[in-house]
Amino acid sequence: MSILEGRVAVVTGASSGIGEACAVEFVNKGAKVVLAARRAERLSGLVEKIEGMGGEALAVTTDVTDEDAIANLFAEAVTRFGGVDVLINNAGIAENTPVHETSLEHWHKVIDTNLTSAFLCAKHAWPLFLKAGHGRIVNIGSISAKVPRSECPSYTASKFGLQGLTHALAVDGRDHNIAVSIFHPGIVATEIMPGSVKLPENFAATPEEIAEVIVHMCNLPDYLNFYEALVVQNKLPFLGRG
Ligand code: NDP
Repeated sequence: MSILEGRVAVVTGASSGIGEACAVEFVNKGAKVVLAARRAERLSGLVEKIEGMGGEALAVTTDVTDEDAIANLFAEAVTRFGGVDVLINNAGIAENTPVHETSLEHWHKVIDTNLTSAFLCAKHAWPLFLKAGHGRIVNIGSISAKVPRSECPSYTASKFGLQGLTHALAVDGRDHNIAVSIFHPGIVATEIMPGSVKLPENFAATPEEIAEVIVHMCNLPDYLNFYEALVVQNKLPFLGRG
């Protein structure tokens, strides 16, 4: 039996792409899921799909840059399911602007969405993990946390920051049976990609392929931490950056 059977996983950015696929994969492993994102109708559609699979899901419309909304997300999770065991910090936006054209406002938007959100969700999940006596966080980083793409300073900084936050929380979690890790996707065919980008066939990963790896990282005994993983396109030289 999977350790995830009956456990509760909060997935941010669950309205599309990797987050949506993770929610479905958690349910395949017997977990209950709490779905967070801004697009309420996409979340309700996913709840219907999961209930159709015989699973349990709660949609909480959440802007992950808003601490009150995050407090409400975890409060609703507790009301419905009694606690939270796993957190997937997946919500994120892409950004491709050279430094001299990046406004301070835009810089803050990328950092708030991709990095500060993970801090806030960890902050509100932590007391629930302490209460449960265990917990697990997987932050969704990027290959950009390893090798920057050109002309994306804010996105790259947000993902390097997420790597740092992961290390810090992994150290702090050890004494409390809380495992914190990071998963770095390479190129995944999701809505984050501009429609104009044409990728060769058999190149981009599907969200489902990536979700299997992320949920596998959570499907371990509480005394183990799958600390870091990176899935990149095999045919790209030097870790996907040429
Ligand atoms: P999608 O655009 O499909 O998903 C992004 C999700 O983030 C959406 O569900 C969106 O929901 C949510 N989101 C964005 N801003 C907010 C916000 N302020 N509050 C709440 N939710 C928000 O892209 P992916 O699935 O590809 O992206 C998921 C993660 O994977 C991101 O962190 C991304 O950086 C990372 N990644 C993706 C790669 C790829 O090639 N696809 C490569 C490397 C990393 P909504 O708009 O409804 O709020």
